[in-house]
Order: sequence, then structure tokens, then C-alpha cells
Amino acid sequence: MIDRRQSVRADVGRRSPEAPVRTTLSPRKPSGILVAANPGERGKPGTQRGGVRDDRRWRSAAAEGRIIEFVSAATSSQPDRPISELFAEKRPLRSLEFYPPKDEVGVEALRQTAAALRRIGPDFVSITYGAGGSTQARTAQMSALLRDEFAFTVMPHLTAVSHTRAEVAAVAHTHYERGIRNIMALRGDLPNGSPAATAFKDGLHYGSDVVALLKELHPDLCLGVAGYPEKHPEAPSFEADLVNLKRKVDAGASFVTTQLFFDNEAYYRFVERCRAAGIGVPIVPGIMPVLSLKQVTRITSMCGASLPGRLIRRIEAAGDQPEIIEALGVDWALTQIRDLIANGAPGYHLYILNRARSALTLAAGLAA
Ligand SMILES: Cc1cc2nc3c(=O)[nH]c(=O)nc-3n(C[C@H](O)[C@H](O)[C@H](O)COP(=O)(O)OP(=O)(O)OC[C@H]3O[C@@H](n4cnc5c(N)ncnc54)[C@H](O)[C@@H]3O)c2cc1C
Repeated sequence: MIDRRQSVRADVGRRSPEAPVRTTLSPRKPSGILVAANPGERGKPGTQRGGVRDDRRWRSAAAEGRIIEFVSAATSSQPDRPISELFAEKRPLRSLEFYPPKDEVGVEALRQTAAALRRIGPDFVSITYGAGGSTQARTAQMSALLRDEFAFTVMPHLTAVSHTRAEVAAVAHTHYERGIRNIMALRGDLPNGSPAATAFKDGLHYGSDVVALLKELHPDLCLGVAGYPEKHPEAPSFEADLVNLKRKVDAGASFVTTQLFFDNEAYYRFVERCRAAGIGVPIVPGIMPVLSLKQVTRITSMCGASLPGRLIRRIEAAGDQPEIIEALGVDWALTQIRDLIANGAPGYHLYILNRARSALTLAAGLAA
């Protein structure tokens, strides 16, 4: 059955009032200093005593010492609300995506971005995971930072590529111990040139395997998964991709966040096909405000999203003027979001590329 809130309506141009910008935050007690556990050390998780974990007894369950965990000296660990509960409130949710910076300068920049974005009160923020790369520990560190310093509900991403089941379990366990209850469960992209046999270990081949593993370990985790309005680049057909998306939902995912797209019709068609295929969970549109032609061409060539000719012509007409292109990008995203919300989308997820300005401009535009 097609979800009426997300059905494609004929009156695409009609508008409904945008949900007001939230300015208040639920305060959460800061949970202490971040320290890196010895990556080589193994052992059993420490016990909770009166809600405060004794870190002298806690050492990483991270297998083979390849995952560095960042744990707090004294964690208050009030668990986050599952995002599925927020969807149940039937209002459009706003979420933002960060990527983990590579160095301390980047961490400080992210901290400043997060401080600026606090005033728009996102319902949750997500932090990407460098599949097979070097930023994996940073995802845990940034999740902790955004949760503890800024009281955001965080959703770290977790990819299976290059990990064993024990490694994925260890990362999830770290998040869980910190009170995180939402994870974006992904397969991840194959590292360049890496043959599939070495990229996927231990039977974790697909996003659905990650969902099943995490649900087995922590049934109360709320899991998001990725969906592709213009098909995943590797999928032989749209139909096959939908069958595989349904596998992720059937394994326990609570919602889908889409790959970025610039033409809302792609999203509407996707939602309709998902509903027809029996996928009933919220499908959150992923939106990225364009910053430059070079940037958007590179990203779309990687993820397979198409660029409408009208958008390309506008960017080209702006020439070599980044501020005008940024304004165009925000305007395009604003038009997309207004239309999506008016047509019953359950919210929107902004790929902000660690920049505050476009998200703040969008929030201001949507408040008008
Ligand atoms: C919202 C979002 C967030 C993302 N975050 C990150 C991130 O933090 N880090 C990162 O590295 N990448 C991220 N990505 C990119 C993502 O990792 C890639 O798109 C990756 O190639 C697929 O991951 P997946 O979990 O969707 O894979 P899957 O759902 O496993 O799908 C991958 C391919 O396998 C096919 N497939 C799935 N199951 C089966 C099956 N049982 N049999 C046969 N074929 C099957 C699918 O049709 C698809 O073609 C993100 C993407 C999105 C949309």
C-alpha cells in the first residue's frame, strides 16, 4: 500500500507551511574527556556502576587492534531516543551529515560548524564512516563529541567493507556503551582495486548482513539504511535493487535515507516503487546544496545521481564566482525541500560537507 504522506501528488507545486525552526535543545550532561584506548589491548567491557563506567576496567573489544576506540573517562550514558520514535511524531525531521575530519585542525573546524548549527536544532546528525579508510576511529570520536558537547542525537555510520563481524560488533558496542541508539548500517564502497574476496570478510557482504548482525547484537538499536532513487551503480536493474533494499528493511532497518538527487521526480518515483514493493518505512530524501560545478560533477559521477540540465546551465552561467554558485545551490535545494515537504516527505537529510553556511541559509529560507 502506498503511504499517503509520501504519495506522489499531482499538485506538485502546492506548498504547505514548513515546520518551525526549533531553537531549543534538550540539555545533556557532558560526559568527560575523550581518550584513545590502547588499540592493541583486548579484554572484556567494563561494568556500569550507577550509570558511570569504570574505564580502568574497560578496554577495547576491537579485534586485531585495528579499531581505536574513543571512550569517555566517565560516561553518563543516558541513552538516545531511537529516531524511529521521532518519525512517529509525524512531523518533518531535519538531519545533517558530517564527515570525520582527518586531523585536529579539522576537528576544531567541525566543532565550530557544530556550534553554528546548534541554533537550527537538527533532529539528529549523522557522521560518515571511511569504509576501509583511516578515519574510522574519528567517526566514533566525532559522534562522541557531537553528542556530548552539543547534545545532538547522533547517528554514526558503520560500513562492513574490510571488517570482520567481530570488528563491526566492536564498533557497534562502543557506540552502544556510550548511549548511542541509532546507526546507519552500510556495506560501503569497495576500496580502489580491492578484490571483493578481501574486501568483504566473514560473510558480511551486503547492507542487509550488517543490519541483521547489529539487530542480533542490540535489538533495540534503530538502524537506517541507504536507498538509491536512481539505482545503486552496481545493481543490474532497478527491480533487483529494490528487492535488495527490502532485504535490509526486512532484516530490521527502521528507515531509509536516500542518496542525493537533484530532481524530485526521481524521489517520488522511487517512493512509489518502494511502496509497491512492500517497503513501508520512512524514506528520507538526501539533499546536497551544490557548491561548485567541479564538486557536484565529481560527486554525481561517483554515486550515479543525474544533474538536471537546468541546474548545470545556471551554474555555468554563474561562471567562476563561487558565492553566486553557492547561492544558486542553496536556492535549488530550498526549492527541492519545500516541494518535498509539501508532498509529504518525512523530513530531509542535508549533506552539508562540514559547512554551516548553506545549512543555516536553508533553515532561514524555510522559516520564512
Ligand atoms: C545515506 C547514505 C550514507 C552513506 N554513508 C556512507 C559512509 O558513511 N561511508 C561510506 O563508505 N559509504 C557511504 N555511503 C555509500 C555506500 O557505502 C555505497 O553506496 C555502497 O556502495 C553501498 O552500500 P549499501 O549499504 O547501500 O549496500 P547494499 O545495500 O549492500 O547494496 C550494494 C549493492 O549490492 C546489491 N545487493 C544488496 N544485497 C544483495 C544481495 N543479497 N544479493 C545480490 N546483490 C545485493 C544492491 O542492489 C547494490 O547494488 C552512503 C550512502 C548513502 C545513500
